[in-house]
Order: sequence, then structure tokens, then C-alpha cells
Amino acid sequence: MTCPLCTNDAPLFDIAVSGGSADASISVCAACADAQTPADHFRPLASTMWSEDPAVQVFAARTLRRLDTDWSRDLLEQLYLDEDTQSWADNVAEQTDHKDSNGVPLATGDTVVLIKDLNVKGAGFTAKRGTAVHRISLVPDNAGQIEGRVEGQRIVILTEFVKKR
Ligand SMILES: [Zn+2]
Repeated sequence: MTCPLCTNDAPLFDIAVSGGSADASISVCAACADAQTPADHFRPLASTMWSEDPAVQVFAARTLRRLDTDWSRDLLEQLYLDEDTQSWADNVAEQTDHKDSNGVPLATGDTVVLIKDLNVKGAGFTAKRGTAVHRISLVPDNAGQIEGRVEGQRIVILTEFVKKR
């Protein structure tokens, strides 16, 4: 079977292409499905990204974005997607490295519980262990910090001191 992305003749596997208005999947080779595959494997995207299958286009666009090399950035600039396909390609769950004290991934909007008393500098109070913090937000660029409202004040909390509820 020919992989629709890299055009290699290889066994193909179905993988989901998330974020669309309906469930979609494409059949690709194991290397194309693997986020660790070296960028050069994806050079054939220069032609295959023009697939007539929107799911393939979305996967191609996301792959090019992830590779972040000179040639993949060039291709991404050339790639024209119609409006629906573009918003599908852009609809990716936020990828961050924020994790709670147990290594559980945290996302914007989660509720966490403090696992120790926190002296809130500048706010003049102690956030007690066991306090639930609702609708946290993730501090971009710092996987060790989240923000949340405690006693009416928006504070920065270290992820090592919280547990996801
Ligand atoms: Zn492939």
C-alpha cells in the first residue's frame, strides 16, 4: 500500500485526525504516524499535501507545523487550505507540559487542590492545603506554573504543589 503522505510502499495503519466536525481517520505508514520520525521522511509532503482528501491535508499541515524546519515552514506557507479545512487544521488541543505533583497533565479550566499550605507573597495570606482552585490557567512558557483564584485573588501556583481533582 502507498502511504498518502510519504508515498512509501508500506503497511498502513488507521489513525484519527481529531478536531474536525465529524470523526475522520486516514491510513498512513508507521513512520508518518510517529511524532519522533526525522523531518526528512516527510519531504514528499511537498506534493502529497495537495491531496484531495481534507483529512490528509489537515494531517499534512499539522505535521509541517510540528517539524518546524526551513523547508517545512516554506511548504506550510505555500499550502492553501479552504476555510473549513484550515480551521480544522488549527483546531488542535493545546499541547503543554504542565503536570501536577503526580505527573498528571493539566489543562486550562481544570480544578486542582493544594497539597500544602502556600504562603502567598505580597497577598498577605496563606492558601491552605486542601483548597480547591477552580478553572486554572496555564502559564505559557513555564510548565512549572499555573494561575488560579484563591480567596478572590489571582495568584501563581507552582504545579508541584497541586493535585488535579
Ligand atoms: Zn508514510
